[in-house]
Amino acid sequence: MNLPSARSAFTGQALRELAATSPADSTLFRHSVAQFATGIVIVSCATAESGVHGMTVNSFTSVSLAPPTVLVSLKPGTAHRLLSLHGRFGASILQAHQQGLSAHFSGRPNDALRPEFVIRQAQPTLKHCLAWFECEVIQQVEVYDHSLFVAHVVACGKESGDPLMYFSSHYHRAEALA
Ligand code: FAD
Repeated sequence: MNLPSARSAFTGQALRELAATSPADSTLFRHSVAQFATGIVIVSCATAESGVHGMTVNSFTSVSLAPPTVLVSLKPGTAHRLLSLHGRFGASILQAHQQGLSAHFSGRPNDALRPEFVIRQAQPTLKHCLAWFECEVIQQVEVYDHSLFVAHVVACGKESGDPLMYFSSHYHRAEALA
């Protein structure tokens, strides 16, 4: 392996070469990145067939304040196809008591649940959630096995409550330290 010399150890090119030749072990990567605590978001899209398709993500990130811009990272599947096709989606941040919805929209549907979506301006978002966003995709970036959907937030709002947290592959409630 061609390690960068001490002289060039901190240049971007040297770092890129090092990354290309020694990717981290994928199991260790999964366990390490799981130490990053996140909230849980339901990405939602209107569909002709089923009304609204929802998908659980924790890759939702605020990217820019002006203009308000977010991103989600999606693997191929129904939500990915719908976002690529329509270029619009809703995003709803879950409250602490909404863990059932997270499971429901991550491939373990619960027939007893009747998630309620509303259209506040143009895109469906959950009627009850901690915060909601209506988004228009401005860029789709392919990164290996996922796509980043970068989107302008055209409308948003918040309610009061506690967030559902995801940390170390388990759900948690947030606890204020101060
Ligand atoms: P479906 O279309 O029903 O797909 C189900 C699965 O089938 C897909 O996940 C995919 O693996 C596979 N699949 C379907 N079609 C294709 C295709 N054409 N090519 C290849 N594979 C296919 N997932 C993310 O992508 N990003 C996240 O940030 C994310 N965060 C999550 C956080 C939590 C806490 C949990 C529990 C799950 C998270 N998931 C995330 C997983 C995601 O919620 C589920 O995989 C969900 O079922 C995918 O929804 P879908 O619309 O793609 O469903």
